[in-house]
Amino acid sequence: MPRAKTKPRKAVTPAATSVEAARIEAAPAKLKVLFVASECAPFAKTGGLADVAGALPKALHARGIDVRVVMPLYAGMPWSDLEVLDGVLGVPMYWGTAHARVRVGKLPGSEVPVYCLEYNRYFDRPYLYGPPSEGYPDNLERFTFLSRGSLEVCKALGFVPDVIHCNDWQTALVPVYVDTVEWAQPLHGAATIYSIHNLAYQGVFDGGGMFITGLGREHFNPTEFEHFGALNLTKAALRHSTLLSTVSPTYAREIQTPEYGNGLDGVLAARSGELEGILNGIDVDEWNPAADRHLPAAFDVDRPQGKAACKAALQKEAGFPVRADVPLFGIVGRLTPQKGFDVLAHALDRILGWDVQIVLLGTGDDDAQRFFAYVDAHRGDRFRAWLRFDNGRAHRIEAGADFFLMPSRFEPCGLNQMYSLRYGTLPIVRATGGLVDTVTNYDEKTAEGTGFVFADLHPEALANTIGWAVSTWFDRPGHIQIMRDRAMRQDFSWDRAGRRYEDLYRRAVSLRRSR
Ligand code: ADP
Repeated sequence: MPRAKTKPRKAVTPAATSVEAARIEAAPAKLKVLFVASECAPFAKTGGLADVAGALPKALHARGIDVRVVMPLYAGMPWSDLEVLDGVLGVPMYWGTAHARVRVGKLPGSEVPVYCLEYNRYFDRPYLYGPPSEGYPDNLERFTFLSRGSLEVCKALGFVPDVIHCNDWQTALVPVYVDTVEWAQPLHGAATIYSIHNLAYQGVFDGGGMFITGLGREHFNPTEFEHFGALNLTKAALRHSTLLSTVSPTYAREIQTPEYGNGLDGVLAARSGELEGILNGIDVDEWNPAADRHLPAAFDVDRPQGKAACKAALQKEAGFPVRADVPLFGIVGRLTPQKGFDVLAHALDRILGWDVQIVLLGTGDDDAQRFFAYVDAHRGDRFRAWLRFDNGRAHRIEAGADFFLMPSRFEPCGLNQMYSLRYGTLPIVRATGGLVDTVTNYDEKTAEGTGFVFADLHPEALANTIGWAVSTWFDRPGHIQIMRDRAMRQDFSWDRAGRRYEDLYRRAVSLRRSR
């Protein structure tokens, strides 16, 4: 294997670890973790994975863990703010060696280094994964490069991690490489964690593409990559990783069933004892109603007055009548079947018959966009659709709305409902995945709960639950206030999740070393 030639400049501190030291340390006091992700906020983001990659490493670092992030350098990232490391990184590919550059930045407000692999042929493109609803045809090759490249970065830096934390299919080859091409090399000692952020995306390619991974054809077998005739990267990661995790306890259970397992439920159930559900935290600095630069007024649980100003401003922004008495519903998210907006579409006519206002911010499937644009054009008095990605507006919706809608078909964790709770905006959610673990249903008798929960993914059930929220708004406003207070006091900080991941890492290290 070609040796990487990159040497860090002064500003980048290479790990002082020798390979020997890494071997004899049975239970390292200071864990070394490589965190590999295909997106990481604020550098590049299409969804919740980026939020996790931007926040979890900071929480780990605060716990004394030496954590470093590796990701691709995409078009649109702040290239010139990142420090270029000396030398060239040689990444073995099936066609030869890719010579990449490495740029390094830090997660904002932290000392966590983020190594960005600069290889323009793969990543200097308008999208991270491909145009909406499509993947780039060479995605297998692009993310083979990321997976292989992340290990080469370690070698170049002399960084021998105790744990390599991989995230979703774009990094699924890493645990396989650690077990195979790194055999008898220092990185072979690393424990691997594979985190499922969304099992709907598994990295499925034509079986003929196996050669692109650089692994022998013998790995294309039903216990590794082969899945119903196709090449399935996630399947191989589920087999090769030391431990598995996903982003909520309920989703960890759900994906072991045929309904949510997307064909991999059997593989997951076989490793049931080694699959943990750890609820994501949220970035409580970025999502803090008391100090949110996107909001016209600040508020928090002790000074809730500002929320009314945020509502009025959002109504203005939407072109709605500014009225405090009307319940305002917010929706933010990808317009994909996962989010259940097709079910909302079928319920919308009934809902818009009531005295309500709804704002929607989202991008995604063409037919969903067309539908919501149509409703916007015809019912603009109470329905506004903004079909674009707009982070500031997402904040203003979380702050200004009274209720937040998430009728998800499945939801590994979901972040928006946690943002909503923190902003005193009561979530209306379907009982699935992380939504179950974060929102408790309203009890009319006791005013218990932090939101409204329904089980059946059906327009009737959704409309009825929204109707229940609307009637609570008008008939029991005191209960809304009590729930809002309770919602805003919930703790979804990353500290809690960081502790759980550290435990998982330590368990993985001892498992790996015992094997
Ligand atoms: P997922 O990861 O499945 O897309 P999550 O709720 O876990 O869903 O996270 C979605 C993240 O992306 C949130 O931070 C949300 O605010 C953000 N987001 C999604 N769509 C938009 C949009 N159109 N504009 C701004 N932010 C968006």
